[in-house]
Amino acid sequence: MLTTLRRIIQDVTGAQDFREALGIMVQSIRQALDTQACSVFLLDRRCGEYVLMATQGLNPLAVNKIRIPITQGLVGLVGEREEPINIPDASTHPRFLQVPEAHEEALKAFLGTPIIYHRQVLGVLVVQQHEPRRYDESEEAFLVTLAAQLAAIVAHAEATNAIVNLFESQDSSAETTYSGIPGAPGVGIGRGVVVFQLSDLDVVPDREPEDIQEEIDLLETALASAREDMRVLGEKLSPTLPEDERVLFEAYQRILDSESLGGEIIAEIRQGNWAQGALRTVIQVHVERLANLENEYLRERASDIRDLGHRVLAYLQRSDRSLPQYDEKTILIGEELTAVDLAEVPEGCLAGVISAKGSSSSHIAILARAMGVPTIMGVSEIPIQDLQDKEIIVDGYYGQMYVNPRQSLREEFEHLAREEQQLDASLEKLRDQPAETTDGHRIMLMVNTGLGAEVGLSLAAGAEGVGLYRTEIPFLIRDRFPSSEEQRRIYRQLLTSFAPRPVTMRTLDIGGDKSLPYFPVKEENPFLGWRGIRITLDHPDIFLLQARAMMRASEGLNNLRIMLPMVSDVSEADEAIRLLKKAYADVCDEKYKIDMPEVGVMIEVPSAVYQARALAKRVDFLSVGSNDLTQYLLAVDRNNARVAHLFDSLHPAVLRALIQVVEGGHQEGKHVSICGEMAGDPVAVILLLAMGFDSLSMNASSLSRMKWVVRQISMKKAAKLLQEVLGMESPVMIRCHLELALERAGLGGLVRAGK
Ligand code: PEP
Ligand code: MG
Repeated sequence: MLTTLRRIIQDVTGAQDFREALGIMVQSIRQALDTQACSVFLLDRRCGEYVLMATQGLNPLAVNKIRIPITQGLVGLVGEREEPINIPDASTHPRFLQVPEAHEEALKAFLGTPIIYHRQVLGVLVVQQHEPRRYDESEEAFLVTLAAQLAAIVAHAEATNAIVNLFESQDSSAETTYSGIPGAPGVGIGRGVVVFQLSDLDVVPDREPEDIQEEIDLLETALASAREDMRVLGEKLSPTLPEDERVLFEAYQRILDSESLGGEIIAEIRQGNWAQGALRTVIQVHVERLANLENEYLRERASDIRDLGHRVLAYLQRSDRSLPQYDEKTILIGEELTAVDLAEVPEGCLAGVISAKGSSSSHIAILARAMGVPTIMGVSEIPIQDLQDKEIIVDGYYGQMYVNPRQSLREEFEHLAREEQQLDASLEKLRDQPAETTDGHRIMLMVNTGLGAEVGLSLAAGAEGVGLYRTEIPFLIRDRFPSSEEQRRIYRQLLTSFAPRPVTMRTLDIGGDKSLPYFPVKEENPFLGWRGIRITLDHPDIFLLQARAMMRASEGLNNLRIMLPMVSDVSEADEAIRLLKKAYADVCDEKYKIDMPEVGVMIEVPSAVYQARALAKRVDFLSVGSNDLTQYLLAVDRNNARVAHLFDSLHPAVLRALIQVVEGGHQEGKHVSICGEMAGDPVAVILLLAMGFDSLSMNASSLSRMKWVVRQISMKKAAKLLQEVLGMESPVMIRCHLELALERAGLGGLVRAGK
């Protein structure tokens, strides 16, 4: 039984879509239990009916047609009782319901089990047999186990609205809604432009070349054309692209070079494969290697390599690359979009992005946020091939998309989009205004930089400095540690762009979910393991090299601050400060004229909350990393979608910890900042103000909106709201209370579409 179970689960999870998964499930169960019928009924909550969604054994034409009210029939009874019902002869049961279209007259034995997810009944799984008999215990256990597996699949399909769309008619002009993960905020309305993979590299066969040199020549011409594409695209985007992204386009060109991938493909050709086959072999090796890495950023690179491979293949096949016809308001849709796909849309025409794969931390989402394009990620159930030229609305706040919206809905969203534009235009005026409450309390607003953040955008939004520069990004996009001089140049550029404003550089924070391919850290429990300062203190060579590069970069500017991540003990701060003083002495010996930079500690671990004052005594500032602090306080992995609903920085425990950190820092007269995502959440900002944080550091795109919050509210009002929420016990209540307060203060446009 166990092997059968495992096989079924494997087959079901390998299904292309939800409909196919249900089909495989009913067919496999019927076979495994050697019974006459197996069916799945799912609850259509909008009308309180169970709908037959898949069957093997009942009338297949009744799928989507049979609807059983929740209070009726044996199916309804299983749902009510929330436990399996096993009846030898269903027709004698008082709750038996005659459904003629089912063609189930001959079926007597009935075993139904509820499909329950997170305490909610989603449907009922039923098996039926001709002979009256009671299904035995092992059969019942088998069905219950599969229902539990099915529950997760149904819940996912519900979350993406795939079920609602199945419940409805398949009319392709009907309005349909799909849900995904919010990737970049905003409302976009336009026409779908579907981007397909160019040529399918995976199906290219191996073939013996007639003339090896001719194949090499063909390859080199194709590589040169693809490199030229990258150069042109990189140049086209350079005014709007952040530095990190520009580096990426240069990296693509280098990858296509004969020193890199090009060389490997030529070696394969020389081994006796034609250019197309050699290209496929080399690309597959690289994609597999990257896709198996734990680091999410590097895994994302696998799709870049695949895209480059497809592009070269298209040139090899001499197929004219016919570019899609872009609409004036293009909603770009694809299975797995790449930076190049975005770059190819003519300027000013990109109204929204929808990607079937990926999450909000995917590279494409980060890029879309930097470009300010409303984006939805991970909409796994969209029928991509049907969306070309369809009218589509993208709601990047809620991760919701509407296809063929009815006129009233479109008008509503057009109205909201206009209001958004007005809001953004009115916020531009705030650029040179201080972030000051209506009763004169001043707070500093800074930006987080690293991947996807743009210096120009930050300064345009009126950033007062950089509160967090994630230095690991230049380390992640290389295949070795960047040299001291490479680091100095990168840091210098950032320090110069922001001077005289302060720039807070965090020392290398790898480990956890960020490991370098050339410095792999494999652990059972990486978030509780060798991470952040723990690694760099064990490798003073890496730490000192980085610290010296930062200090040299600050010559003549003196706007550098250095921040230490993941500190959980005062001894770590002491040791890091000792090393920083050594680095400073070394750099001074080299005759650099610089001031010793301010040094701060990140508060990201519960132990650091309780020792905030002791830490503050040793350094110049504290900065809360609320992403990790929330993860560690609530014991919720910040990257695990299954427990994502438990991750909430407004949890009362997190709020109390934050208060304690501010108190600890201020008792020692030190500046206290916060640089996690919480600092860009408008409802949280009210509380952070009231707690007395001296500065907030956030994504550049959130800055003007947070300034608006600060300037619309009084410190007195914020303090009152903080007192009120401290009396509440649940993060949901707290969020509702604060959202209501924002609405009342005329700031509702920050938490939903519109003004
Ligand atoms: C944090 O943990 O809140 C933080 C700012 O650091 P990161 O997100 O890079 O871990
Ligand atoms: Mg962190």
